[in-house]
Formats: sequence, C-alpha cells, structure tokens
Amino acid sequence: MEAGKNKKSRVSAPAKQNLLRAIPQVDEVLQWLSADTDAPMLLIKQTVREELETLRQNILAGKKIGKNDLSKKKLLGQIHKRVQLKLGPNFKRVINATGVVIHTNLGRSLLPDSARQALVEAGTRYSNLEFDLDTGKRGSRYSLVEQLLCDLTGAEAALVVNNNAAAVLLVLDTLAKGREVIVSRGQLVEIGGSFRVPEVMVKSGARLVEVGATNRTHLKDYEDAISEETSMLLKVHASNFKMIGFTKEVSAEELVDLAGRCKLTVMEDLGSGCLIDMSRYGLRKEPTVQETVKAGVDVVTFSGDKLLGGPQAGLIVGKRDIIDCIKRNQLNRALRIDKFTLAALETVLRMYYDPETVVSRIPTLAMLTASPDIMDRRAKRLVRMVKKSLGEKCDIAVKVTGSRVGGGALPEEDLESRAVVLAPLDRTVNVLEKNLRMNPLPVIGRIEEDRYLLDMRTVADDEVPIIANILGQVFGVKL
Ligand SMILES: *Cc1c(COP(=O)(O)O)cnc(C)c1O
Repeated sequence: MEAGKNKKSRVSAPAKQNLLRAIPQVDEVLQWLSADTDAPMLLIKQTVREELETLRQNILAGKKIGKNDLSKKKLLGQIHKRVQLKLGPNFKRVINATGVVIHTNLGRSLLPDSARQALVEAGTRYSNLEFDLDTGKRGSRYSLVEQLLCDLTGAEAALVVNNNAAAVLLVLDTLAKGREVIVSRGQLVEIGGSFRVPEVMVKSGARLVEVGATNRTHLKDYEDAISEETSMLLKVHASNFKMIGFTKEVSAEELVDLAGRCKLTVMEDLGSGCLIDMSRYGLRKEPTVQETVKAGVDVVTFSGDKLLGGPQAGLIVGKRDIIDCIKRNQLNRALRIDKFTLAALETVLRMYYDPETVVSRIPTLAMLTASPDIMDRRAKRLVRMVKKSLGEKCDIAVKVTGSRVGGGALPEEDLESRAVVLAPLDRTVNVLEKNLRMNPLPVIGRIEEDRYLLDMRTVADDEVPIIANILGQVFGVKL
C-alpha cells in the first residue's frame, strides 16, 4: 500500500529539474509587482523570497506542481495573499462565541471600558510609576495598589507580580526554600498552561511533603508530617476540578490553628481570587479572598485575570512581616508587573469599593451573571438578521445550551445560555468552523453533534450584527 502511494506521487528527477528551472528569479517577480503594490519594499522582497522558496521545497518534495503554479498570475495572487497577511497584526481581536467566559486561550478576562483611558495614559504620558509625589523621592510601584488591596481583602499588606504562578513561586522561594512544605495529596493540581504545584515547588527549592489520600486528608495527617524541617502548610484551591463522593479536606481555620501551635506559616493558593460571594448571583460558592484572610491564613495568592476580572497579574496578600520579606526577595524584581497592568488593575480594584455595582461594571462578572433572557434576545436577533438570506445554504435555529466559567473556576458549573445553531447544507461543519476561524475578524464557536454553535453569553451586543455580516460573507449571500 505505502509503496504504491509513494510511486503515484513520485516526480522524476528530470521533471523536477525542469520545474526548478521554470521558477522565476526574485528580481523578475519584483518587477511584475512594482506597479501594483504600495506595501513596504522590505516586506515585499522577503515575501517573494519565501514564496519562491516554498515552491522550490514543494517541487523537491515531489508535490504535485504544474506549470500553471509557476505562472505570473498564480504567483502574484499567492504573493499578494502573503503580503496582506503580513500587513495585518498577528495579535488581534477575535469574537468569542464559545461561551467560555474566562477563556485562557482567548485572553481570559476583558477589562471594563473605563480602563481604556488609564491604559492609554500610562502608555503615552509620564507617570508616578516609581515616584512618591508626597516626598519627591523614589517610590514603589506596588504602593499604588497596596492600600486598595488591603481595604478590599482585609489583609495587612499586599504585593502584585506578573501572574499567580509567579506569586506562588515567589512566596515559596522566600519562605520555604530548602525546607519542607506540607500539602494534601488531593491538592497537587495541574492548571492549564503547565502550572503544576509539585513542579513549581521544585523550582522554588522547597521540598514537597504530600499527606493524606487522594480523596481524603485529615488534620492528623498534617500533624504527623510536621518535622524540624517544616516551614509551611500549603493549601491549594482545586479550582479546575471537583472531587465528589467520599472526600475530606482540612479547613483553612484548622490549618491556621495547627500552624499556630507549631510556629509554622500557612499559605493558600486560591487560584481564581474571587472578591465577591458569587452564590448571591446563583453560582456555586467559591471561597473569597476576604474569608481566607479572615480565617488567619498568613499569605494568600490569586490571579488578577480570573474571577477578579482584571489584567494578568498575581496578587499576594497577607501578614505584614511576611509580605515585607517577600518584597525584599531579589526574584521579585524579575517578576514585577508593568505600568499597563498597574493602570488596569487599579481601575478594576476600585470598582470593588461598590459591591452593588461591581458585577455590572466588570465584564467577566457581568457575563457570568447574565440572565438567559439576554442571551435569548441576542440569539434571536442574530437569527432574524440572517435566516432569510442563508436560505438553502444553512439551517439556523436557537438552542438552549450551557456555557462555562472557564479559567479553572467553578469547573462543574454549567450556566444556562442560548446558542445560535448552524447546520450548513453546502459544506461540512468543519469547513464552516474553519471559514469562520480564518475570517479577518475570526469568529470562534464550537462544534457539537455535527452542528456549529455560537454561544451568545460571550458575544457582546454590538458583535451580533458583525457576526451576521461575517455569516453573509462566508456563505456568499447578501443580507
Ligand atoms: C490559575 C491558577 C494558577 C495560575 O495562575 P496564573 O495567573 O494563570 O499564573 C495557580 N494556582 C491555581 C490554584 C490556579 O487556579
């Protein structure tokens, strides 16, 4: 079989030579191009070289290349396509129609519109980033959000670093390097993007001591594991999975009590970092940062861009002497946040001063708590805009579906939502998925049971007509 297949695609050596000789020279192609493009010359030259090199490689690999593929018209078409791609940004907006709110691959949390001004100003104007306006002396960038974090969480002191993985690493490196850290076996979690508690611990130089069984850990397990070498009891919030059945975890309060008796530190990695009680809005209860601080945990770490709904950051709050120690760690300098993060973080944190309005003002929270009517209206509007035009090309309907919190938070939670369901009749659902994904403004939905679903929870109202237009273009119909 294999041999037969090879034989079929094999191009003889002389034929290859002929084709290779027929590839035009770079200069020749540049002359063809000079009249009809105003793209920068450097980019054009590079693109022409790449295109001709691809052709050469394909010929050498025995791919089916005809004289037509070497024609002026075909080559110019290919080169123009490549140039267009290069002129556009690589990092760009997409429409998230997956229904996963905190979608790590699509940028996690969206900042509120009001952060725009702060971000632009931080980027285009000088600022007091590390300048104390009261004394006229050098200041600390962390001080700009420290008080806010203390007010909101009840902690004595706070520090912000690049992300939560960095926060965990920094705390362990400061407090537990070369010593033992006791963790429940059921909490040795892996978070998407290769963050694994045991591996971060190795990097920090702390020695992991696992206690308990996978499903159950008792206070006595911690007690028995404490030795001269122990520096810390670590609790990790199992944010992206849920254990059900015969399970037992030791509470933060119990750990704090035990640590107090043995003069140890208690750290909790909360992961999502919720500052409001989501159960008030019908979601499952996640421990809030305030509750964890109140329980007496010495140092708490959490993400800025998960349930908090801010920029990527790792927030560390806790007892003053411990935070002071962490601030002095040289590693901190390598993990520090930039001015854009600070600007966005301060804007978002300030919104939490008013717990009544915060849910509607922070996009992540607004999307998580949106009532099904909102998604229903969006879905019906989209269907209304395209149904007639799509006609024979695609069946379209509204369906009740479940969207996800994402970002490793509330893993079991299915939020009732509405999706627009597309069943294309002129192509496969995989081709439709690709067409939408490859659109200049990509639309990312999901395939379910051979249908294409656009979940309306994560689609903004002003994106509904945009999606309608894109569907019109993709199916080649006028709306
Ligand atoms: C998400 C998460 C992390 C990693 O946070 P990043 O901000 O993505 O670096 C660490 N620990 C837990 C428990 C998490 O849920």
